[in-house]
Amino acid sequence: MANTTVKTGPKTAPPVEAARTWHRARKTVHLLCFLAFLALPFLNVVRADIPRQRFYFAGYELWINEFGIIFFALMFLMFLVVASSVFYGRVYCGYLCPQMIFSEASVAVEQRLRRWVVKHFIGWQPKARERLFRAAFYSLLAPASVVLAFAFISYFVEPRDLLARLASFDVRTAAGISGAVVTVITFLDFTLVRQRFCTTVCPYGYLQGLLGDGRTLLVHYRDPAHACIECKKCVRICPMGIDIRQSPFQIECIHCAECIDACDEILGRLGKSGLIHYAWGEQGPLSSQARQPWDARRVVVLLLLLFYASGLTVALSMRHAVLVEVNRVNTSGEISNRFRYSIANRGSKPAAVVFSIRQLPGGRLELDPNPVSVAAGQSAQGEFEITAPPATGRELVTHFSLTADTVPGGENNSFPLTFLAPERK
Ligand code: SF4
Ligand code: SF4
Repeated sequence: MANTTVKTGPKTAPPVEAARTWHRARKTVHLLCFLAFLALPFLNVVRADIPRQRFYFAGYELWINEFGIIFFALMFLMFLVVASSVFYGRVYCGYLCPQMIFSEASVAVEQRLRRWVVKHFIGWQPKARERLFRAAFYSLLAPASVVLAFAFISYFVEPRDLLARLASFDVRTAAGISGAVVTVITFLDFTLVRQRFCTTVCPYGYLQGLLGDGRTLLVHYRDPAHACIECKKCVRICPMGIDIRQSPFQIECIHCAECIDACDEILGRLGKSGLIHYAWGEQGPLSSQARQPWDARRVVVLLLLLFYASGLTVALSMRHAVLVEVNRVNTSGEISNRFRYSIANRGSKPAAVVFSIRQLPGGRLELDPNPVSVAAGQSAQGEFEITAPPATGRELVTHFSLTADTVPGGENNSFPLTFLAPERK
C-alpha cells in the first residue's frame, strides 16, 4: 500500500512531456474504433441482416442455411476475444469497447461544456447556470444518441433502408420502433449509466477473471522504494473511480492506463519515474522491459484461433456464390423423366445458369428458358424434362450427368443422375 515518505528517486526518470502517452494512444484508437463502428455495417464487414435472414462477414453475403461458414466465423470472433483476454487482459475494455468509448466521450463533453458555461456566464446565478448547462448538454446528446442508435441498428437492418425509415420518421415498423427504443436507451445510458454498465451489467469483467492467469497483462502499482507522495492523482483520474494501489485485480479496472500517465506526470516533475506500469502478471516483468512469457495455455489458445481462421478461409474459398440443386420429380410417359432444380444466387451480381446433359445418347433437355437468370440475392426454382428416344437394348437405368455452368464467374456443377426407362414388355 501507499507510503507517505519520499525516500529514493529512481535513476531513469521520464521527461514530463512523455506523460499522457497512453492517453493519447488510447484516444487515437477510440477515434479509429468509432469510425469503424460507423463504417462496418455499410461495408458489410460484420452484419446480421434480420429482415433478409442474411449474415455478412468480410464482404461475403452468407445465407442462413450456410451454417458451416457462419459457425466458423462466430467461433473465430469468439476465440479472438478469448486470445486477447488471455494475452492482454482487459485491453478490449480499455481500448475497443463502444460502451467505454461513448461513456468517456460523454463525460469529456459534459466536463468541457460545464467549464465553458461557467466561464461565459460567470455573472449568472449558479442554479440558472446549471439549468443552462443541462439544456445545452441534453441538446447535444439527443442527436448524438440518434446517430449511435442508427449505427447500432445498422448491424441488423440494411443501413440504406434504415436511413430511409429514419428520414420518414417511421415509428410503426419493427425497425422504426427498435430505432426509437434504442435511441432512448442510448440517451439514458450516456447520461445516467455510463461506466456503471461495466461493473453491473457486462459479464466480460467477470469472464476475464476466468481467462486471465499469472502472466496476463495488467496494470500494477510497484513501489519497493516507498516513493509514493500520496498525491492521489492516479485515483482522481481513474474513470472507474478506484485506487489501483489497493490491488491489480479489482474487477472495475479496465487497464486503461490513465493512472500510469498520471503518476508518470506527477513524479516526472520531481525527476522520478512513475510507480504504476503495465506488467506481465503481478510478479512478472514490466511489459516495457520484456515480452510476455509463453506457456502451453497460450499455445493452445493460439492454435485454436488458427484452426478456426483456417476453417473459415477454407469454407469461404470453397463456397459457390450460385448454388444449384437438382432432384428427380417422377417418371412420366414412356421414356421421359422430370426433374426439379433450385438456384440460389448468394453473390452480389446477377447470374445465369446454363443447363446441359452428357452421356445420355439421344437425350434431350427440355427447359425454357435455358439459361435461367437469377438476380443478385434471389433464388429460383423450376422443373425440366429429359426425354430419350425408345431404343432397343436401353437399360432400365441409365447413368448420365447434368451440368450447370454459371455465367459470369465460370463456376460449373456436375450432377450424376439416372434416367429411368419403363420395363420392356
Ligand atoms: S499518482 Fe503516483 S505518486 Fe500520486 S498517489 Fe498515485 S501512485 Fe502515488
Ligand atoms: S486503475 Fe488505472 S488502469 Fe485501472 S481503470 Fe483506473 S485508471 Fe484505468
